[in-house]
Amino acid sequence: MSNRREFAVQLCFGAGALLSASAFAAAPMVDEKDPAAAGLGFKADAATVDKAKFPKFAAGQNCGSCALYQGKAGDAAGGCPLFAGKQVSAKSWCSAYAKKA
Ligand code: SF4
Repeated sequence: MSNRREFAVQLCFGAGALLSASAFAAAPMVDEKDPAAAGLGFKADAATVDKAKFPKFAAGQNCGSCALYQGKAGDAAGGCPLFAGKQVSAKSWCSAYAKKA
């Protein structure tokens, strides 16, 4: 009896974790035109960064290799504390980029 109850509790926690994971996956992507994003020179595709405007940008820099990126290695997108409640693509970039150690 108690095993069945434990299983039911675990099932609920599991479903909750799945729900929160899918809720996060549904978070909107950061828009380049968003004032906060534009202020940081955010580009959805790092390949389109204006190198004249951002001379510290170097090829190979993107959110996926940034210390602030909250996605896991291999994730297409993930969170960034600079854009709460939104996601950035692993291929994006902004001027706050800090290479992951
Ligand atoms: Fe991407 Fe890093 Fe800028 Fe966040 S701080 S948008 S992870 S480059």
